[in-house]
Amino acid sequence: MRLVRECLFCAALFGLAGALPVCGQMSPLLSSQKAPLSDRVVAYQIEANYHAKSHSLDATETLTWTNYTGQPQDRLPFHLYLNAFQPKSTFMREAFEEGNRDVPIGAEWKDKKFGSDVIKSFEVVGVGDLTGKLRFIHPDDDNADDQTVVEVQLPRAVAPKEKITFKITFHDEFPEVVARTGYKRDFLLAGQWFPKIGVWWKNAWNCHQFHASTEFFADFGTFDVKLTLPSNFNVGATGVQTGETANADGTKTLVFRAEDVHDFAWTADPTTKIVEDAVTISSGTVKIRLLMQPGHMASAPRYMEALKGTMMKFDEWIGPYPYSQITVVDPPHGGGAAGGMEYPTFITADTAWWMINGLKEPEAVVEHEFGHQYWYAMVATNEFEEAWLDEGINQYTECKIMDALYGRDVGNVNTRVTTAGERGVDRATYIGVADLDPMTRRGWQFVNFSSYGGITYSKTALVLLTLEHIIGERKVREAQHVYFERYRFKHPTADDFMNTVNEVAGQNLDWYWNQAARGTQVLDYRILSAGSDRADWADKNAPKKEKKGETEYISNVIVHRKGDFIFPVTLEVKFDNGETLREQWDGQDRWRRFTWRKKAQLISAEIDPEHAIWLDRDRFNNSWLRDADGHASGKIAGYWMLLTQWFAQLLGWLA
Ligand SMILES: [Zn+2]
Repeated sequence: MRLVRECLFCAALFGLAGALPVCGQMSPLLSSQKAPLSDRVVAYQIEANYHAKSHSLDATETLTWTNYTGQPQDRLPFHLYLNAFQPKSTFMREAFEEGNRDVPIGAEWKDKKFGSDVIKSFEVVGVGDLTGKLRFIHPDDDNADDQTVVEVQLPRAVAPKEKITFKITFHDEFPEVVARTGYKRDFLLAGQWFPKIGVWWKNAWNCHQFHASTEFFADFGTFDVKLTLPSNFNVGATGVQTGETANADGTKTLVFRAEDVHDFAWTADPTTKIVEDAVTISSGTVKIRLLMQPGHMASAPRYMEALKGTMMKFDEWIGPYPYSQITVVDPPHGGGAAGGMEYPTFITADTAWWMINGLKEPEAVVEHEFGHQYWYAMVATNEFEEAWLDEGINQYTECKIMDALYGRDVGNVNTRVTTAGERGVDRATYIGVADLDPMTRRGWQFVNFSSYGGITYSKTALVLLTLEHIIGERKVREAQHVYFERYRFKHPTADDFMNTVNEVAGQNLDWYWNQAARGTQVLDYRILSAGSDRADWADKNAPKKEKKGETEYISNVIVHRKGDFIFPVTLEVKFDNGETLREQWDGQDRWRRFTWRKKAQLISAEIDPEHAIWLDRDRFNNSWLRDADGHASGKIAGYWMLLTQWFAQLLGWLA
């Protein structure tokens, strides 16, 4: 998901919690004859009838689950995500109290925003009807009214390696689009729309309730989906379409197949225009399908260029995209809550009819959501508990790829009036929430939505940018590549990621991870004082007049560790004889004095002279200039950045 970060920026500035906007057709493999890429824990067969007028559907789901847990299982949990849009749900309560991307704090929840996923019958093939054995559970809180997780008690346990098949009939009511699912006029984005079994992870069931800020977690497998809907609808979906039948009643039935994915989403809209192209990468040719709103056609080539560029960079830097297709959905005007979302081989974009070339939102969204194909869709970490492994690593790759494709510091806004890049925006959203929550906190336990966004997305990006300073850009990229190759389709953990970086770097970086990822330490070093005094000040016979090159000076710089984050410091000092020196400090003590005795005076002092410590919360206090007020000039630069952000925000509001 993409955070609408300009708004996050404002919230970070003013401490507003919540009222923020923030931020998924799968294919069979390039050849479905290839060996499976994943342990196929699940096999879903779903037949759904979509009732376009009422934005509802009725479906039958046949789910075969294989017990790879290594132990007998007699209680199995299922997500019913659409029940989040019920009045007393945990999602609604959290959204009301803290807000989220689509819901301002305290917002009245209109009737059209209600949605539901109701199980009509639940049968275990060979066992019988267990509808009466279902009960709602709420593993995360005490909300007995939350119906987003349901558990079934089986009459006998499923043995290790044994398969069990469920036959579930259910009815969905879609909300007007919210949280990346629902309708807008005739447009539908169907996400999180079917009963989905939880994941056995870390030796326990992992099936969290739907929270206002969290995303998803599911097991890999296959999907065979038949969608019946009015024949005039254009449809895009996870996987590839393998069949189409025209029905006598004016409907059609489309057949989709997806392999080695953990979710299935689809979209339907009678007015979209379909633009098709292809890109060739190391794994072969991948078909690209854009489903465009007619009024947004000007953005189609921009989406296409950004997507192709992004796919080639991921292929070069991280690894191959193994699926044969990627589908991009362009949501309609007023349907922004469907924009900027990832599902396997299926992403949603975001634009507007007036989107000028200098505003790179369409490009950045497509880059961001395609990036999720790697971290969310293939590596598939637990987005409830370790969201930074997806959103944060993805934010870092967004930064690197937007820099590579569109230029550094101009990747978000590049107009005559102003420019803005990924790094600046990430810093702006991080600064205001720097000490509130560790990156490793579970998604729904952050103090508020600003902190969730500022830490999970932006701080992670800044942590990895700063890591480049420690181990080098090449090693960070190599670590990402090794992590992807080793853990795709395996649900790795935060420790897996950090240990992989340690291994590739050839050094133990736990001192860094413990502060930056597991801790809330704030990194801020400053120049406390600096200047030069005559060395002969106490000598009564010293010449009154100073003489350049002859008079000796004692110069001092005191560097102060203002924050609780301990980090090695580089200090660069310049003297009026043209000499430049660099000094190193381990940064451990609270402060450190540097002294030089020279026939020259100090003219400037700066810590982090290469501007590589992206985590430094306050860069205004990093430098001192003898002949100008360095702090003031730093501040002016800061205000200018602030103004440019306001401009981007203003343009965002026009949407
Ligand atoms: Zn995202």
